[in-house]
Amino acid sequence: MYRVTKEIHFCYGHRLMNYNGPCMHPHGHNAKVDIELESETLDKRHILYEFGDLKEIVKGWIDRELDHKMLLHKDDPLVPALKKLDEPVYLFDTNPTAEAIAKLIYDQAKSQGLPVAEIRVWETHTSFAAYRGKP
Ligand SMILES: [Zn+2]
Repeated sequence: MYRVTKEIHFCYGHRLMNYNGPCMHPHGHNAKVDIELESETLDKRHILYEFGDLKEIVKGWIDRELDHKMLLHKDDPLVPALKKLDEPVYLFDTNPTAEAIAKLIYDQAKSQGLPVAEIRVWETHTSFAAYRGKP
């Protein structure tokens, strides 16, 4: 099995609801995302997937939808206040954890036809959450 991984960086703010700890308050992260693709076959050029295309597809979507936005639970009371101020938000049905962000990016990459194996969202230099689809 061949595997390639592209690293993407973006910034986001969030906070967690029903949570007792520092993450209950709005704060931000400089996130690193690992997009891991997997395939048993390569194309005629002996390439699994062009890194430039991978960057354009996934980073393009992240830049448009998530970068420099507040990622919030749809029921977070901050949502109406931020929307009223015209601040960019991205809403989740769940808490906007690194796990939820990893699943979101996985689903998005999969819907674009990428042979994605795993998405890792590094919230800090030492902590990541991953989502891996069924093979
Ligand atoms: Zn956080």
